Amino acid sequence: MFVGCGFCNGVTTPGFCPICGNSMNDLGMVEDYEGPYSPYQDAELIEWEHKQNNQGSLVCIHIVECPKCKYQEYMKVPI
Ligand SMILES: [Zn+2]
Ligand SMILES: [Zn+2]
Repeated sequence: MFVGCGFCNGVTTPGFCPICGNSMNDLGMVEDYEGPYSPYQDAELIEWEHKQNNQGSLVCIHIVECPKCKYQEYMKVPI
């Protein structure tokens, strides 16, 4: 269990879409989201992110999505 991540705890909200300004939805941690639906490019990005994390402070990586325009981005939350 991640104590320090505001997203996992439901304390922090993903904010607003930079494209259309709609409220973003937290789709969960990347670890939970990996699966047959993840394109190969995303898997590479995730692997890179994990390497970066090992060099610095721990972060919890979440995918947030705009329900309106389907804009997605990764959010790194320090834990
Ligand atoms: Zn988290
Ligand atoms: Zn949007």
